[in-house]
Amino acid sequence: MVKFFIDPGHGGTDPGATRNGLQEKNLTLQISKKIRDMLGEYENTQVRLSREGNQTLTLNQRTNAANAWGADFLLSVHINAGGGTGYEDFRYNTLSASSTTGRIQSAIHSAVMVAIRGFGVSDRGAKSANFHMLRESNMPAVLTENLFIDTPQDANLLKRADFIEAMARGHVNGLANAFGLKRKVTTKPVTPPKPPVTQPKPSVPTNPKEDDDMLERAVVINGFADFPAAERLALYLKAPIYLRSIVTGQKVAKELYIVGGTKEGMVANKVTLLSGADRFETAAAVANFIK
Ligand SMILES: [Zn+2]
Repeated sequence: MVKFFIDPGHGGTDPGATRNGLQEKNLTLQISKKIRDMLGEYENTQVRLSREGNQTLTLNQRTNAANAWGADFLLSVHINAGGGTGYEDFRYNTLSASSTTGRIQSAIHSAVMVAIRGFGVSDRGAKSANFHMLRESNMPAVLTENLFIDTPQDANLLKRADFIEAMARGHVNGLANAFGLKRKVTTKPVTPPKPPVTQPKPSVPTNPKEDDDMLERAVVINGFADFPAAERLALYLKAPIYLRSIVTGQKVAKELYIVGGTKEGMVANKVTLLSGADRFETAAAVANFIK
């Protein structure tokens, strides 16, 4: 069981940053609740929020709650202000990028940037700082700053439901990857297999109906080490990038291009393997394919 403590920044009498008709406390709660719901799609996860509504909480109350619960990870969600633009996140400043916390931060950071690519958001980087939420928590903790409320182009994105959804999905994809979470088996009924064909097949192949709306192709990465190579391939193929853990056993496109790892568990009409023994060989295989 992995226990995730999600902290929607601010609340109650503390609205956080406000501008352009938006209040930070409402946005952080929206994103946090979506993250909680999405984490419920995975096996063996427990999620607790520092606040479910518009309560006023001190920073100490938040870290005390996470520590008392014995959370495995603390995520504090904020919206930036001060006239910049883009996304950034923070770990405690005494921790290196290669620490456990640094690796979780890196997974979240990469997954968020993947999830919101297409919205034109700039990447301000994975940073460290001496923040209360990061310093006083007993478990690995990351604080994310999700765009600038006082920059009109960022505020316009924060008003969009599809952007909030993508932002939450990015956090969850990162956590799923960092903690090796497995998706729950879907409760949706599986389409029964087609009866065996007794007549000779027509010479003109017909596409099954279910494939009509399906993506033509998608790129699958094993982990974020393969992301730079996969990104070049994705641009070349004009295809989205999925994490292996997300698409295992699930058909998301007619053709899959695997960057890192094996074909195992991949479901598609055609699977192209572009993997080497390590990320350098994998990057070479991708470069070779694009040429
Ligand atoms: Zn804040």
